[in-house]
Amino acid sequence: MAIIKHRIRTAGLSVVGTFLGLKRCDEENCFLFDDVDSVTRLDDMVYLGGDHGLPELANRGFATRPDDPNRVQTIEPVRRPRREKGGEVRA
Ligand SMILES: [Zn+2]
Repeated sequence: MAIIKHRIRTAGLSVVGTFLGLKRCDEENCFLFDDVDSVTRLDDMVYLGGDHGLPELANRGFATRPDDPNRVQTIEPVRRPRREKGGEVRA
């Protein structure tokens, strides 16, 4: 459930960001990463990078493993994720 929620939210943020005039980038962990070649790529996109002129939102996103994915999540500082065994991402 949390993975599906993250992927849908990230795809939405990516599209809406460009509608708002933000540019795509090369940072693979950013919501605006340009080279989204598969749905699993969305798993690594966990925050807004620092190169979009929005310092108040830089490096902020949503917990990828929320306690209760049914609840609305707040925006919070997110660290660069690391891959665990099996390819699962933890932020
Ligand atoms: Zn970016």
